Amino acid sequence: MQSLAIHASRVLTPFEDIADGVVVIQGSKISEVGPRGQVVLPRGAREIPAKGKTVVPGFVDVHIHGAGGRDVMAGNAESLEIIAGTVARYGTTSFVATTVTASQAETCESVGGIARFILKSSQFAARELSAEILGIHFEGPFISKARRGVHPEEWILPPSTEVLAEFLKEARGTAQILTLAPELPGAFDLIAAARQAGLVVSIGHTDANYEQALAAIHAGATHAAHVYNAMRPFSHRGTGVLGAVLTSPKVSAELIADNVHVDEAAMRMLVDLKTPERVILVSDGTSATGMPDGKYQLGKLQVKVSGGVCRNTEGKLAGSTLTLDRALRNIVALGVPLASAVRMVTANPARQLGLGSRKGILAPGADADLVFLDDKLEVSGVMTRGVGLTQA
Ligand SMILES: [Zn+2]
Repeated sequence: MQSLAIHASRVLTPFEDIADGVVVIQGSKISEVGPRGQVVLPRGAREIPAKGKTVVPGFVDVHIHGAGGRDVMAGNAESLEIIAGTVARYGTTSFVATTVTASQAETCESVGGIARFILKSSQFAARELSAEILGIHFEGPFISKARRGVHPEEWILPPSTEVLAEFLKEARGTAQILTLAPELPGAFDLIAAARQAGLVVSIGHTDANYEQALAAIHAGATHAAHVYNAMRPFSHRGTGVLGAVLTSPKVSAELIADNVHVDEAAMRMLVDLKTPERVILVSDGTSATGMPDGKYQLGKLQVKVSGGVCRNTEGKLAGSTLTLDRALRNIVALGVPLASAVRMVTANPARQLGLGSRKGILAPGADADLVFLDDKLEVSGVMTRGVGLTQA
């Protein structure tokens, strides 16, 4: 088995900050990480110098709809390969394919296709730079009509454990996250069913008040989708869902840190209140990610991208073209230390998925998913499961 030893000026595992560090890779896995001089290199290891670079784990995106002109709702292998290849160039080495609200039949078809792709690709070692699809995030259909954003109203459904069961059947064990509005009638049965099936329950696209959101958290919701966006706004005498999400220590908060979806002061508040351990940077990326301005699809919906900002025909924000490397730079620009910011795109999302020892970490036994950052925090190299660019 080919072994590689990467020598970098700095390695952020991200729990340890190692100056002059070494990451040893055997095949698709990391076998050792440590300061140079303490790591014994395997015989015949190919050495890769990464002077002046910081090596961090590959980014994990738990909320992404598409990239490279393709939407995950297409559900076919070609589209999913293009998305996985596109985001990998920006440092995202694994992601959770996120649906948009669509008809039950369409959702089942898309989910069936994504599941087929995931189960098939897990049987083969990757041969080219490509992010791994870790599962499915259902964004809808059990969401609030009042806070639907651009999700089509006609396909929004009241919470139904029967419909969820249909989706889970198609997902064949690949479902990971369910975003729902907890104020809807039947939401608590749905939360229980989702938890029973091992899903992360996420509060989002919701008009919940404080009490309703808190009740959902007590019932097992541990996540909140793109916090601030598509949520009842905060007031000091009616703090709403935000009051509950921001003050509940166990809830992880997604943030679209593109400087468009959320203003700087609100991002600072979120990071301060949730602490760097509970913030998860997401792209909410659409098919327009990695593409020039123009017209694109988000599910069945047409969106227009101008200056990299994605809106529907009414001018509502409709996902983003954000990539996680840019989100990382935006958070660091707020004054957040790099090691904390890196956690928000690596260890935190991986832990939320229960994959904290395999993804989002540089440690023995973890997948060899690596990102090389230069001194401007631009991505200068990416490796996905031991494959890909190792230029430094
Ligand atoms: Zn959304």
